Amino acid sequence: MKHLILARYGEVGLKGKNRRLFENQLIRRMEEALTGLPVSGISRTHGRLYVTMDGQLDEALKRLSYVFGLVAVSPAQSAALDLAEIKAAAVQAMIEAVAAGYSTFKVETRRPNKSFPLKSPEVSREVGAAVLQQVPGLMVDVHSPQVVLNIELREDQAYLYWRELPGPGGLPLGVSGRAVLLLSGGIDSPVAGWMAMSRGLEIVPVYFHSFPFTSDRAKEKVVDLCRVLAHYCTQVKLYVIPFTKIQTALREGGSEELQTIFLRRMMMRLAAKVAAKEGATALITGESLGQVASQTLPSLAATEEVVDLPVLRPLIALDKQEIIRRAKKLGTYEISIRPYADCCTVFVPRHPETHPDRAVVAQKEAGLVAPELITEAVAAAEILPITTDWEGS
Ligand code: ATP
Ligand code: MG
Repeated sequence: MKHLILARYGEVGLKGKNRRLFENQLIRRMEEALTGLPVSGISRTHGRLYVTMDGQLDEALKRLSYVFGLVAVSPAQSAALDLAEIKAAAVQAMIEAVAAGYSTFKVETRRPNKSFPLKSPEVSREVGAAVLQQVPGLMVDVHSPQVVLNIELREDQAYLYWRELPGPGGLPLGVSGRAVLLLSGGIDSPVAGWMAMSRGLEIVPVYFHSFPFTSDRAKEKVVDLCRVLAHYCTQVKLYVIPFTKIQTALREGGSEELQTIFLRRMMMRLAAKVAAKEGATALITGESLGQVASQTLPSLAATEEVVDLPVLRPLIALDKQEIIRRAKKLGTYEISIRPYADCCTVFVPRHPETHPDRAVVAQKEAGLVAPELITEAVAAAEILPITTDWEGS
């Protein structure tokens, strides 16, 4: 038996050529998400996409609910453009709704195909009456129905659907290019990565690992965070960059109050090198204005001045409570709060500088880290391809 899924996407700002590009990319992402499932085709009509499946409908719905660009996905039924056929399909659909425990409904019809002989309200009325007659246990409630049976009368067929899973919205991955995400094991950076992805950016996560100051448990946290993010993109390529030598060299130079700024500047430089390798054109961090000493405006300025790439900070104006709320919703919070230190929490200065002078920072930093150490660290990166574990999700 064939199963049909109706996928809807937002249309804001989609005009002309962009729309085509957006749709093509969205379809590619849907195909990728559905890899391994029995899909027999994806077609498009007027701002909607239809996926035909030979089975595994629920699995397909779940996976599609993680595809950026989609606003909602629904299991759907099709019927010939004939009132009797539409009524039969509606009755069938509402028998399922009753079996699922629902007891009130209404019908909503849209008629882009103006050649259909009845107007939308007439179709709703006729179909509603047929359902009332033939499906016991169901009543009409036009104001707050538990079930809305949607009927769309299109050029080729009628489509009916009533169940709906929300999608993440946003733009399809890749339409905005690619960026390197500086991913610590903390609460903030995975949320920042997700937000950047939702605007169509593919991400390449980079984690700076200071073994043995930071344990392999800290690295595992980052791998697990990537696994959650991978739901939205099927696979991520995590760079684990050995950071111990650089961190040690920085510490040996004294200037305790500037240590965090030094670390950040090094992270930026290394991330920019990964970006060049990966064809990424921006960096993303989980920084939020004023959250800690290294996130005041002067600190951010001193941090980003060492790279030419734009540094995106999606969380810049969110407060911690809001970030936590988003982390919980995303499913990264419980992983992030596991108690393993990351490299920035290992040697926190007692009196961190909140208003670093850029010239002073540059002068005190000069000569602390040999350029070879930077090249060496990037070359020694461990590259981990991390895929989604759909079974476990
Ligand atoms: P998070 O919860 O993301 O760790 P935070 O508020 O603890 O954020 P900091 O530790 O000050 O922030 O780090 C600021 C940003 O620098 C992080 O959001 C992240 O983008 C980047 N960063 C910090 N440590 C690392 C690391 N070890 N590897 C990769 N990126 C890092
Ligand atoms: Mg952190």
